[in-house]
Amino acid sequence: MEIIRDLNELSNWRQAQAKAGRNVAFVPTMGNLHNGHLNLVKAAQSRVDQPAVLVSIFVNPMQFNDVNDLARYPRTEAEDIAQLTQLRVDAVFLPSETDLTPETDAFTVRVDPGELAAHWEGAARPGHFTGMATIVTKLFHLAQPQVAVFGEKDFQQLQIVRRLVRDLNMPIEIVGVPTTRAEDGLALSSRNRFLDEAQRLTAPLLHATLVDTAQQLRLGSPLNAVLENARTRLTSAGFKLDYFALCRADTLDPLLSAESGILLAAARLGAIRLLDNQPVVME
Ligand code: AMP
Repeated sequence: MEIIRDLNELSNWRQAQAKAGRNVAFVPTMGNLHNGHLNLVKAAQSRVDQPAVLVSIFVNPMQFNDVNDLARYPRTEAEDIAQLTQLRVDAVFLPSETDLTPETDAFTVRVDPGELAAHWEGAARPGHFTGMATIVTKLFHLAQPQVAVFGEKDFQQLQIVRRLVRDLNMPIEIVGVPTTRAEDGLALSSRNRFLDEAQRLTAPLLHATLVDTAQQLRLGSPLNAVLENARTRLTSAGFKLDYFALCRADTLDPLLSAESGILLAAARLGAIRLLDNQPVVME
């Protein structure tokens, strides 16, 4: 596996793939890799065109709106490289902060994802999606992939990236991969390691509640009552809810009655914020 740390090396690697006639499949991450990330890599590797797989690891300061969250974000470069080597990834890109986010004065252009960032994570974390879209755009230009792979766990992010490539005419296919979960249903996340023992036992209730809510909606229960029950159940168990809502999967606008869509949830246990979602498919 090639370990690429600067922009020139990345450009050389990219040109070598083009010369060899290989497509590039790209998996952007913030590192501290777990099985959720590794399943994105496997999805990239299992493409029929057998692309060269490039994983990036970059804790993007522009998408953190909380300095403490950024400071304590787990950085485990050696372990990450070992896991990617074992998976036979072709290359890992570890850009420096100064290469991607030079001092703000020298860097004034931002990519604004517009309406799709108005609700949910966008409302709870001002600037988050602009920071994400700006850095993903830069990474796409640098890596020039034919395919880029993202997790459905961050559903709003995935939809924003789909719109980003569509609206800005980037010739990149965006692939979404289903959420990888622990056995008890908790969506894997780099932040789970901060849950204490009691919180870790409570955490799977978020997924369980999403699944139950989707089921009740399918069976015909009215939306508001079902959502209210779900919120009460989670709040009683100690969650502080940022949102728990049914919305349209394409626009992410909230739905006012039970229809096919996606349930999106963000909830905190102590200082740890958990994110999850569940599709609702009505007959
Ligand atoms: P992150 O390192 O958290 O920025 O995530 C990098 C990529 O991995 C994003 O596309 C995430 O949606 C995806 N991802 C994170 N956790 C999971 C998971 N449990 N299952 C599937 N994809 C995930």
